[in-house]
Amino acid sequence: MSQSLVIIGGGLAGSEAAWQLAEQGIQVRLYEMRPLRPTPAHVTNQLAELVCSNSLGSMLPHKAPGLLKAELRGLGSLILACAVQTAVPAGSSLAVDRDKFAELVTAKIEAHPHITLIREEVTAVPQEPAIIASGPLTSAALTASISQLTGEEYLYFYDAVSPIVDYETIDMRIAFRQSRYDKGQEEEGDYINCPMTKEEYERFCDALLAAETITLKQFEQEDPHFFEGCMPIEVMAQRGRKALAFGPMRPVGLIDPRSGKRPYAVVQLRQDNLIGSLYNIVGFQTNLKWGAQKRVLQLIPGLENAEFLRYGMMHRNTYINAPRLLHPTLQYRGRADLLFAGQITGVEGYMGNAATGLVAGINAARLLRGQMPVIFPTNTMLGALTHYVTHASSKDFQPMKANFGLFPPPPNQLPKSDRYRWYSERALTAMRRFARANGLGYDQALAEANLAEEVGERMTAVSQEQGIDGYPQVMA
Ligand SMILES: Cc1cc2nc3c(=O)[nH]c(=O)nc-3n(C[C@H](O)[C@H](O)[C@H](O)COP(=O)(O)OP(=O)(O)OC[C@H]3O[C@@H](n4cnc5c(N)ncnc54)[C@H](O)[C@@H]3O)c2cc1C
Repeated sequence: MSQSLVIIGGGLAGSEAAWQLAEQGIQVRLYEMRPLRPTPAHVTNQLAELVCSNSLGSMLPHKAPGLLKAELRGLGSLILACAVQTAVPAGSSLAVDRDKFAELVTAKIEAHPHITLIREEVTAVPQEPAIIASGPLTSAALTASISQLTGEEYLYFYDAVSPIVDYETIDMRIAFRQSRYDKGQEEEGDYINCPMTKEEYERFCDALLAAETITLKQFEQEDPHFFEGCMPIEVMAQRGRKALAFGPMRPVGLIDPRSGKRPYAVVQLRQDNLIGSLYNIVGFQTNLKWGAQKRVLQLIPGLENAEFLRYGMMHRNTYINAPRLLHPTLQYRGRADLLFAGQITGVEGYMGNAATGLVAGINAARLLRGQMPVIFPTNTMLGALTHYVTHASSKDFQPMKANFGLFPPPPNQLPKSDRYRWYSERALTAMRRFARANGLGYDQALAEANLAEEVGERMTAVSQEQGIDGYPQVMA
């Protein structure tokens, strides 16, 4: 293979991938269509522009986003290094001054001798070695070309997601396992059912109707297809008091074993990953704000103390059916020299997207040098994420962010806080060994350093130097 490669999209994933390749001495042509062709959400010409929140999530190593950062730091992530340098105070979260962050990433990419930044729209999937990292708002022409390659049915344009719950936080003294009319594959029932009395249903509907929703972006409001086939529960509730009880909350074919009767309404949860640690709430796509969502959903009997690993949402999002189309190396199944990275693979979250850029960059460099691409171990956060998007059910594939529910469980029962620390320690050990065995550059000291403390100290030093008391505030 040649020693050069094309990357489409100078977002978080594309910039990270370009850096990883260029640092290995590979010549990269990075195409970014802005400013010639803007997207409906970006407002600057900079690479790695954050289109919404300026928070990149927790820095604490025993939280899933913190563990992902530790792994990325050890592996030499550009995006993370730039975020640390442009951090603003946000407690244990890593939030950045969005302009300084994007300017720094752009400057680093522009200055790299092995990267040529080309401000042009790519309208067709390249025939040469390439990484497609064109994000949730991929241009129309490229979308059409990807769809031709993959088959139209494997490309999605909207993300309509139901909330996902940590199984261990469901109160099974109230909820019960059963399939409608006992017609399931599992003996004990395929679904977890949360039964409601009429009073509980009424209270739930009142709270739902009163809850605050997210305002859709203009480009989403204007699109007539947005709600097609997947109406949010709050819109359904507005259509009539019993709409939900006859819709996703219908109780037909279900008997509560405790009362021996059919409940007035039922909320059903369906297993979402193979190991059964994640459950999604069936038919509960919603645009409620996250705080309101938690309050309303915790009114459901059995979910009073539920932990939501992902909130429901609906937004424009171009992504492929990665379980069908990609290897866990992020290579396209039909072409070894074509890789995908970022949100278009079905990974969610700024750091998760940068992480897939790093994986694609490392693997593309290996392929160009005639080495085998690597598959990160599933007990590391990088490996768990790439494993999920390439092994989830392809029938109803929906994007996913970094979370501990993706990990194989520990051999023994541990309280949650101990379990999270155990996951983190296991992941960092596995990553260290894996990097060594495969000759990947990995700085163990950086990976295991206390990032939150370092960022805190750095900001105190900067504010003292500049004689200022505060920094820009974090956007929710
Ligand atoms: C409205 C909106 C709000 C969001 N809010 C959040 C949030 O708050 N937190 C969060 O974690 N995630 C959020 N996301 C998801 C977010 O987009 C991703 O987390 C992240 O930006 C994706 O990184 P990426 O590199 O895959 O794509 P992007 O960062 O979007 O980068 C893709 C780049 O490709 C370029 N491009 C597209 N097509 C072409 C082409 N044909 N030729 C050349 N260049 C092209 C685009 O201009 C863009 O710069 C949001 C997404 C949207 C759409």
